[in-house]
Amino acid sequence: MPGLIPERFIDELLARVDIVDVVQRHVPLKRAGREWTARCPFHDERSPSFYVSPSKQFFHCFGCGAHGSAIKFLMDYEHLEFPDAVEELAQSVGLKVPREGGDQRPREDKTDLYALLDAAARFYQNELNKSDNARAYCEQRGLDAATIEHFRIGWAPAGWDGLKRVLGTNEYRLKLLEQAGMLSTAERGNKYDRFRERLMFPIMDRRGRVIAFGGRVLSSDQSPKYLNSPETPLFHKGRELFAFWQVRQANTKLERLIVVEGYMDAIALHQAGVTQAVATLGTATTHEHAELLFRAAPDVVFCFDGDRAGRSAAWRALESVLPRMRDGRQAFFLFLPEGEDPDTLVRSEGGAGFEARAAQALPLSEYFYSELSRDVNVATIDGRARLAEHAKPLLAKLPDGAFRDLMYAELEKRTGLNTGTTASTAPTRAPTRTPATNHTPRRTLVRSAIAMLLAEPSLASEAQTPYAFGALDKPGVPLLIELLDVARARPGINTAALLEHFAQREESAALQKLAMIEFPGEREALRAEFVDALRKLADQTVQQRLDALIRKQAKSSLDEIEKSELRELLARKAQPVSSAES
Ligand SMILES: [Zn+2]
Repeated sequence: MPGLIPERFIDELLARVDIVDVVQRHVPLKRAGREWTARCPFHDERSPSFYVSPSKQFFHCFGCGAHGSAIKFLMDYEHLEFPDAVEELAQSVGLKVPREGGDQRPREDKTDLYALLDAAARFYQNELNKSDNARAYCEQRGLDAATIEHFRIGWAPAGWDGLKRVLGTNEYRLKLLEQAGMLSTAERGNKYDRFRERLMFPIMDRRGRVIAFGGRVLSSDQSPKYLNSPETPLFHKGRELFAFWQVRQANTKLERLIVVEGYMDAIALHQAGVTQAVATLGTATTHEHAELLFRAAPDVVFCFDGDRAGRSAAWRALESVLPRMRDGRQAFFLFLPEGEDPDTLVRSEGGAGFEARAAQALPLSEYFYSELSRDVNVATIDGRARLAEHAKPLLAKLPDGAFRDLMYAELEKRTGLNTGTTASTAPTRAPTRTPATNHTPRRTLVRSAIAMLLAEPSLASEAQTPYAFGALDKPGVPLLIELLDVARARPGINTAALLEHFAQREESAALQKLAMIEFPGEREALRAEFVDALRKLADQTVQQRLDALIRKQAKSSLDEIEKSELRELLARKAQPVSSAES
């Protein structure tokens, strides 16, 4: 495992690069006042609603809601994972990425591993040409030559050391083979080929490099049916998707991804012209997959067999996507007739037949409620209560936004006391796309303070610790404190870098929205406004404590310490500092 990238380095990197340059390399920008603008690279549009702010060092699209730092831009635009985007940016400004803990070796060491795995793929491809059995199998499964070439499908020959003999020609290469997960170890310590007598599917990373293999037996009396590479320095199966590289090759703009269960399913779909199909690698869909999928396309269709196993896999997939269902993202669930998989289906119905079924896939909301209502009788109050009981902890996982609101509204509709008729009626289709919301939520004092701090992180130096409002019990206060702490610890941090610290948090979307707020006018005026907001928050803290003490006094009684605290607070209130806002 590579070590973690220190946060401090991310700050430094974001201070060093200019997001205008970074975006400009991919998208032609035009100046528009203090900002730069372009037609959004992340959605189709005629007139530009994509803005890049040099002062805040972030981009934002008013059309689709895409936003973030230079790192985020590269992640979205080039479909890179965070460490790779950081690496690329760092290289562009001549910085070297330091790593904390973990593997300290430079990344160059991995090039040998990549080269070895590529050679292994070529070896298997060659072997396929030599094996009549394997070629006959491919033919029987309907794979044409172009598909075999495109997916680099190969054949691992029988015997114990076909690959080892060809590629493991010295100690170093043997060690690499082992590191790459291509060898197994016998009880007595002998090494032998991990993959034997299997059709081989190379798994490629987002740059088209072979990082692992999946192998499938030809006849059903051999087991296991599928064998994957183990986890290696290059391969973490929870993070990879089979055929993702081919999807990226075939589609410049991805509106949709289809997730299937097997390699052959994904390949058959591609061959039938459905070039947005990927497969998870013999694992249930993880949170990481969900994020990866949605980062690549706004719509994700999960495809499952209609049998019991398929149903339970679908529910697990639903649970893993819930926390990732930000506005603008849609998940669909497609159940195939029992006994069919995408492979058999495209062979009988063709790509168009599959597309027609995909168009009928259940939106997440519909699948969610129909599945939860399956074993409860929503005609009864008990049943509706149980439905609510089952739904609430799941809905709580949804990130803030319009989709979450809609899901709760649907729950109220389904369980509300005045609806006695929902028992047998088909679930209503929830609106399929929630528009990206541009409006800013009601601006409370805390929100205003956060917005000002995001606009001008150097304002953090105005706050003294311990924060006078630290004990204030209001939404957003802990977040404001965290933001202040980060900004104070890193003088000179810019808006994008500050936001990047919260990129993995559920508050991230809300922070991005607040960071969009412009504060026109002089910086000094903003400073005064910020100081005033902090003072008002401090006043509110005093008032809140005062109210609590008075309430307690009325109910029971105060001890000596509390009494003296109360006297002190009342005295402080008597001197007018500023008008407390409620
Ligand atoms: Zn856009």
